[in-house]
Amino acid sequence: MTSPYPHLLAPLDLGFTTLKNRVLMGSMHTGLEDIPGGFEKQAAFFSERAKGQAGLIVTGGYSPNADGRLGLGDTTASGDGLDNGHTLITKAVHAHDGKILLQVLHGGRYSRHEECVSASDVKSPINPHRPTALSLAGIKQTVEDYANCARMARDVGYDGVEIMGSEGYLLTQFLAPRTNLRDDDYGGSFENRVRLATDVVRRTREACGNDFIIMYRCSMLDLVEGGLSWEEIVKVAQAIEAAGATLINSGIGWHEARIPTIAHMVPRGAFVWTAQKMMGSVNIPIITSNRINNPAQAEEIIASGQADMVSMARPMLADADFVQKAMDDKADEINTCIACNQGCLDRIFDGRLSTCLVNPRACYETELNYERAVAIKSIAVVGSGPGGMSFAEIAAARGHKVTLFEASDRLGGQFNMAKAIPGKEDYGETIRYYGTRLKNLGVDIRLKTAATADALIEQGFDEVVLATGVTPRTPDIPGIKHAKVLSYIDVLQNGAAVGEKVAIIGAGGIGFDVAEFLTHADGPGDPAKPDIDKFLREWGVDKDLKGPGGLLPEGPQMSSPREITLLQRKETRVGRGLNKTTGWAVSLGLQIKGADMIAGASYEKIDDDGLHIIVGGEPRLLAVDNIIICAGQESNRELENDLKAAGITTHLIGGAYKAEELNALAAIEQGFKVAAAA
Ligand code: NAP
Ligand code: SF4
Repeated sequence: MTSPYPHLLAPLDLGFTTLKNRVLMGSMHTGLEDIPGGFEKQAAFFSERAKGQAGLIVTGGYSPNADGRLGLGDTTASGDGLDNGHTLITKAVHAHDGKILLQVLHGGRYSRHEECVSASDVKSPINPHRPTALSLAGIKQTVEDYANCARMARDVGYDGVEIMGSEGYLLTQFLAPRTNLRDDDYGGSFENRVRLATDVVRRTREACGNDFIIMYRCSMLDLVEGGLSWEEIVKVAQAIEAAGATLINSGIGWHEARIPTIAHMVPRGAFVWTAQKMMGSVNIPIITSNRINNPAQAEEIIASGQADMVSMARPMLADADFVQKAMDDKADEINTCIACNQGCLDRIFDGRLSTCLVNPRACYETELNYERAVAIKSIAVVGSGPGGMSFAEIAAARGHKVTLFEASDRLGGQFNMAKAIPGKEDYGETIRYYGTRLKNLGVDIRLKTAATADALIEQGFDEVVLATGVTPRTPDIPGIKHAKVLSYIDVLQNGAAVGEKVAIIGAGGIGFDVAEFLTHADGPGDPAKPDIDKFLREWGVDKDLKGPGGLLPEGPQMSSPREITLLQRKETRVGRGLNKTTGWAVSLGLQIKGADMIAGASYEKIDDDGLHIIVGGEPRLLAVDNIIICAGQESNRELENDLKAAGITTHLIGGAYKAEELNALAAIEQGFKVAAAA
C-alpha cells in the first residue's frame, strides 16, 4: 500500500541514529512523575505510545537540581544517579523500537517555592515567590547540574534529552531583557544573555558524547514585552546548533503571556509559520508544534517544507495509536485532541493526575482496562451524547450487543452545540470518532427514535443505559415567557434570531459559550481551513515580528457585532468557575470585545423594556433585545422508574446521572467504567 502520509512517515536521519518517522510526542507533565508507583505507570503510558509508532517521545519535565523544581513535591533528576525506575520507562519504549528523551526543565522564577532562582530578582506575575538572582558560582553549578542530569539520563537508557529553553523557564529568563538585568558575563549584550543556554548545551554534549540526542526547545515567539526580537531568536537557534544540539523544537509564548497558544480558540497550526521562518537558518532539523492534531495537516507541514518534524503532545494523550492509524490509512479512526485542556492541563494545575477528556485511559493504562464479556448481553443505550457514545463503544468492544437510541437526527448530544461555538469546531471530531467506531463495532444506531419505556421493555433488553442528558433550567423570573426570552438551545441549536443587545442569565460554561457565539459575525468555521492571520491580529500577534516579543504595538484587535451582558447572582468574579487553563482566555477575549460582566445581580422582571435587575441595592434596566437563559440544567431521568419497575437493570450516566456535573470529561469516563463492568 502506498503511504497516505509519505513525508510524515518518512524516517529522519540524525547522522548517528535514525528516527522512524517525523512525529514527536512532545513533553507533557502528567503527574505520574511524582507519585508512588509512577515509574510503572509511566512505563505503561509511554509503552503504548511507542507501540503506536511515535517516532520520538519526550518525558515530562525533570529539574536538574532542587532549585529548579516547579513545586516542592516534584521529583528532580539530580543527585548521584537517576532512580532506577527510569529504566522501566526506557526498556518499555525500546521494546517497541521507540526512542525516548528525558526533558530537563529548570523552572527558574516559575518554580513555586521559596528557593526559586532566576537571572535577576524580577518576580513573575504568575508566581507569588520572588526569585533570588543566581550568583556566578550558582550559574556554573547549574550548568554542571544540567550536564550531570543528562549523563545520568544516558546511564538509565534514555536516547537523549530535551533541554527546555522556552515558555519562560530559566534559560529564557536569562535570554530576555525582560527578566535579565545582570551586568556580568551572563547579562547585557545578546552574547552574554545566550551564554547560559549555550554553556548548558555544550557541557551536555561533552558529558554525553556525540551519539546522544540533544533536542533544544527554543522559544520561537515570546509573546511578552521585553521578549526577544526575531533576529535574536535566529541567533539563539544558531548558537544552540553551534554548541552541539541535534534538533531544535519550538516553544510558543511564555506562560505569563496573555495570548492563548494551545487552547481551543487557537486555530490548528497557528504558529507553524515561526518554524517555517526558521527553516534554512540552521542546519539541524526544526520541529514545529502547537495545535497540530491530525495527520493530513502534519503531512502538509512536512511536505511543504514548513518544518522537518511535527510535535504533538496532547494528541498522543487522546490516541496512543495516532501514528499507527495514520500508517494504516485509518485517520478517521483517530481519537482527536479537541484542545479543551479539561482532562490534561486543568487537572495538572489542580494538583491532580492528568488524563484526557476523550480518552479516559490516558495515564490510567495500568488500571482502566476491559476484557471481552463472558456473558453477552443485549444492552440499550438511550441518548448519544459523549457519555452514551462512550458506553456504547466499550460495551460493543467487549462483545455486547448494543442498540443506541437517539431522538434527534444525529449523534453527539451537547457536543453538537459545543462545535457550533467559533473556536470549538474540533468538538465535532469527537462525534466523528465515535461515529466511525460505533459503526465499525456493529452498534445498531437508531436515529430519530425517541425510546419509550414501553418500547424498551417490549424489546427485551437485558440492561438499559440512560444517557438522556439534561433539561435546561427555567428560572422563576416574572416575564420569563416574554418573546424576548430565548434558551441557549434556541440560539446554539435552533438558529433563533438574536438582536444586537443581549443579556445572558447565567455565567457558567454555557453562558460564556453563548456569549462567545454571539460576539462573532460568522458562525463556526472549517477547522481544517483556519484563518490564522485573523486569529493573530485579533490577539495582537505581530506576524512580521517587527518588535521584540512578537506583539503588535496596538494590542489585540477584536470587535463584536453585539453588545453582551453576562449576569450571575453570586458575588464572586464572573468567570471564576471556568476551566483553569482556558477560562482566562475565553473571559479576556470577551472583555476585549466589550462584554459587560455583572456579579451579584437579582432578576426582578422581564418586559418590553428589557431585563430589570438589582445590583448593589440599585435597580437597573438592561434595555436589551433578547435575554438568553443559561441557568444550568436538571437531569432528564423520565424513563428510570418505569424501567426499574419492570425489573430491568438500569444505569444512569452523564448529565442524567448528575446535572451539575454535566461535563463531557465525567460523562465519557463514566460511560467507559460502566461499560467495562457491564
Ligand atoms: P453552570 O456552570 O452550573 O452555570 C449555571 C449558571 O446559571 C451559573 O452562572 C448560575 O449562577 C446560574 N444559575 C443557576 N441557577 C439559576 C437560577 N435558578 N436562576 C438564575 N441563574 C441561575 O452550568 P452550565 O453553564 O450550564 O454548564 C454546565 C456544565 O457544562 C459545566 O460543567 C461545563 O463544563 C459544561 N459545559 C458544557 C458545554 C456544552 O456542552 N456545550 C459548554 C460549556 C460548558 P448563579 O447561581 O450565581 O446565578
Ligand atoms: Fe486534548 Fe482535551 Fe484530551 Fe487534553 S483533555 S489531550 S486538550 S482532548
